[in-house]
Amino acid sequence: MSFSSDVKTELCRDGLSRRCCAVAEAYGVLLYANTFSPRQIRILTENEAFAQRLPRLFRRAFALDFDQTPPEDREGKKTFLITDRDKLRTIFSAFGYDPDRALAHHVNLAVVESDCDRAAFLRGAFLAGGSVTDPARGYHLELATGHESVCRETHALLLDMGFEPKDAVRGRSWLTYFKKSDAIEDLLTTLGASLSAMGIMEAKVEKHMANAMNRLTNCDMANADKVTDAAAQQLAAIRAIEAGPGLDALPPVLQETALLRIANPSCSLSDLAQLAFPPVSKSCMNHRLRKLMEFSRSL
Ligand SMILES: [Zn+2]
Repeated sequence: MSFSSDVKTELCRDGLSRRCCAVAEAYGVLLYANTFSPRQIRILTENEAFAQRLPRLFRRAFALDFDQTPPEDREGKKTFLITDRDKLRTIFSAFGYDPDRALAHHVNLAVVESDCDRAAFLRGAFLAGGSVTDPARGYHLELATGHESVCRETHALLLDMGFEPKDAVRGRSWLTYFKKSDAIEDLLTTLGASLSAMGIMEAKVEKHMANAMNRLTNCDMANADKVTDAAAQQLAAIRAIEAGPGLDALPPVLQETALLRIANPSCSLSDLAQLAFPPVSKSCMNHRLRKLMEFSRSL
């Protein structure tokens, strides 16, 4: 199952206890559904939980049944249909629309006045026209409607609720979308999918940890490269001295340092400083190695 369908399944656990919320949720569904016209209502969904919720939702909100529901064992897309004029009239008048006139849809703010109903409206909109990307792949939540004015007004509603949505057009769909993980978490929590919101938080923490580990590994490797690079240069210098005047030509301290480096070709500067007898500071060891290099260059 996709993350989107997990979210929808979680949203459908809401108990439909208050009628005002059922009306607002049905409103969101209708404004974000495939067809909501005075002649017919057509809702298409692939989500099993939403398909089971729809008939209960419409009974709770309008006390009526769909004229056509998909067969129980239907796989894939399921269609819910209302064409009965009386039923359409009941539904239209619940939102203050004149059922005899085709009109551009607007969000009737009276239906979504209280906080519970705003959340329910957006839940319906998401169930019918929403999707959210798996947080392991990225952060994107969108609501898609076929009505431009509904997109604009939902945007305003979200702003009023403290969200900062963005708008876009894709084909014949008007989109309201979010790209910030924090905003997506907040919105899902508001809609009633707090488990899914937590899933996004967890995915974010995991990604953060993986990035930090990566940075650490890269850093270690860069350091290791630097050590071997410097050590290789020092060993080359020591070999040049051996091939020339010999290590005996070196002052005792530098001779010891040369032998230490030959015996420990991959040690870091600080490890080498600790191995000296007596141990010396890192900068002292650095100074001795530089003297060795200078000596070899002077040959
Ligand atoms: Zn309510």
